[in-house]
Amino acid sequence: MELRGAAAIVTGGASGIGAATVAQLRAAGARVAVLDVHDAPDADVSLRCDVGDEEQVVARVREAADQLSGLDIAIVNAGIGGMSPLLDLSTLEWDRVMRVNLRGGFVTLRECARAMVDHERPGAIVAITSVSGFLTDRLMAHYSVSKAGLAALVRVAARELGPHGIRVNGVAPGTTDTPMFAATDRMRGYRERVAGRAALGRVGSAAEVAQAAVALCALDWVTGQIVAADGGVSLASPIDPMDSM
Ligand code: NAD
Repeated sequence: MELRGAAAIVTGGASGIGAATVAQLRAAGARVAVLDVHDAPDADVSLRCDVGDEEQVVARVREAADQLSGLDIAIVNAGIGGMSPLLDLSTLEWDRVMRVNLRGGFVTLRECARAMVDHERPGAIVAITSVSGFLTDRLMAHYSVSKAGLAALVRVAARELGPHGIRVNGVAPGTTDTPMFAATDRMRGYRERVAGRAALGRVGSAAEVAQAAVALCALDWVTGQIVAADGGVSLASPIDPMDSM
């Protein structure tokens, strides 16, 4: 797909990975609308939208596609974190995370796909999942399930939307230096420990994850794939003999 002149929506584009993706898409010549609960002054179009609210998503995606005269790219990125021991995990907290990450991801993906089909344009959708969707991180049951669900949605959507010329892929970030990751600063030594487990020996930047999302938009023969953009942190093995050498 040619990024120059493409019309793109990025949810959660006011911060972190989303903001970095907006910057890179715009640098490549795309026009970008951000849907976020916060304003995104660096976007071409900034629309306040809570992705957990279906009515808002339906209205804002339509508005964005009208303002951009169609839709070619959607980055389903808005997400929230949360940590709780399973035994204390309330349904309220479970629903809070699912509402944004999974329900919000689904409604955004569906509405963006509808806009692409309505405008009879091929498209590229990239959902930002997480390595937590296939690893087993304690305290993160709700977050992990929301991201595993989003990854499953990507694969099914790739099959259903392929006949419309719409590709659907996912980027699974590992630990990435954003305001969301900064919440782990209260856990002493966490940042250094995860950095030490990454093959590349550090925490990634928002721009490095955005590169993977933008690249997937451009790869015309790739669909239904989840690419880990994690510096190799998800390669770590609990039975690695080297740990005992
Ligand atoms: P971030 O907190 O910097 O940015 C998230 C953005 O989403 C913010 O602009 C926020 O306002 C917006 N947002 C939150 N709830 C929203 C809602 N209901 N409706 C619309 N917008 C909403 O976080 P980030 O690290 O850039 O995270 C981006 C994505 O990457 C998320 O889906 C997150 O789960 C995923 N991710 C991040 C990491 C990491 O280490 N940072 C790792 C794996 C996956």
